[in-house]
Amino acid sequence: MPLIDCHVHLNNYHESDVRPTAENVGHLLAEMDANGIDHAVVLTSYKIDLQRPSAEELLAVIGQNPRLSLVEGLRWRGDARTDLFHMEERIRDGLVRGIKLYPGYDRYAINDPSLEAVFRIAAKHDVPVMIHCGDTYSKHAKVRQAHPLLVDDVAVDFPDVKFVICHLGNPWFQDTAEVLYKNDNVFADVSGLTLGDFSYAFERYVYKRVRDMVTYMGDPGKQLLYGSDWPLVGMKSYIKFLDSLDLTAEQRENVAWKTAARLFKIPPEGYGGAASDAPPATS
Ligand SMILES: [Zn+2]
Repeated sequence: MPLIDCHVHLNNYHESDVRPTAENVGHLLAEMDANGIDHAVVLTSYKIDLQRPSAEELLAVIGQNPRLSLVEGLRWRGDARTDLFHMEERIRDGLVRGIKLYPGYDRYAINDPSLEAVFRIAAKHDVPVMIHCGDTYSKHAKVRQAHPLLVDDVAVDFPDVKFVICHLGNPWFQDTAEVLYKNDNVFADVSGLTLGDFSYAFERYVYKRVRDMVTYMGDPGKQLLYGSDWPLVGMKSYIKFLDSLDLTAEQRENVAWKTAARLFKIPPEGYGGAASDAPPATS
């Protein structure tokens, strides 16, 4: 069965690390091979600096690799903001398969009215909008602006847009469950629920929260996506976490690759499948 990791980064996470992007890509592909990941969706950041490559820079390195897809991070409040015209061209040309928002980090809230222009581009080209939700890695970010309940506002106002709540909105799992249950155009990835590898106690804690979510929202195969947040977490311990969730075979297939393949329109050759494996466009 294919496995798609819908949430990885190619940033350098230590200020002292300035490894070339090509080296980081090599590291990613080696980790994917070692852990049986067929395809990875790479997310760019909300700023560009020595640690964080731009979408253009990444496309130059990974653009030809069918096993990697790019989702472009929106740069909205810093000095060098995203040029929406150029971002839309990359989306139109199929180079970029989605948009990632960093509310809280980038000092806007998920329901900020200025985002309408971004959501219209997503609707026009039918690409998903991934949203960092919940706890922020940086103490300088404002966590309230990234609360998953705010995704309900935009899901209702923009019914033609598909949204992805990243990290299950950790620690607001129950709010995320309600937003998923209520809105068919909202999905969620399970990435980034720990740093490094799970401790036993924390894995049990998260497992219980996810089981509670599933009890409330219903079929996890409909809206949950597998993602890790590598290199912030280890791929191996994350796959173990997926295995621990006790999904039925059909649910696991959807979470592991089918929902992601459909949402990001990843061609079957990008995850080792034949053309006949492509899931139907709508379910
Ligand atoms: Zn991430």
